Amino acid sequence: MAEETIFSKIIRREIPTDILYQDDLVTAFNDIHPQAPTHILIIPNHLIPTCNEVKASDEKALGRMITVAAKLAAEAGIAENGYRLIMNCNQHGGQEVYHIHMHLVGGEPLGPILNGHLQN
Ligand code: AMP
Repeated sequence: MAEETIFSKIIRREIPTDILYQDDLVTAFNDIHPQAPTHILIIPNHLIPTCNEVKASDEKALGRMITVAAKLAAEAGIAENGYRLIMNCNQHGGQEVYHIHMHLVGGEPLGPILNGHLQN
């Protein structure tokens, strides 16, 4: 059984958080340390520690994460100029919280995606 993170408390509204959206499958809230003018986290309501543990039965929640990201980007007024969706996995990916989450970042030009990695 995977260990709960602070994100489970956020989903259950046990700690004060700026929740922007919640339904039966996903929850979205502002990142506590924003890296851009818009920085929202979208997470499944059930605990999946990393992308490595994603199963076919999670596909509905993961699809919902993207449709909610698009809705929140439109609401934030950043859809037309564009934004970035990021999911980090494990140590090399820079994952800090072991409850999968999609970062929705935008509101300004974001620059190269990988600090020189994979750039031509
Ligand atoms: P990652 O490095 O992909 O695991 O990202 C974890 C993100 O969670 C970071 O951007 C943190 O700022 C954010 N975070 C951690 N705790 C909270 C919290 N209580 N409320 C909102 N965002 C949080």
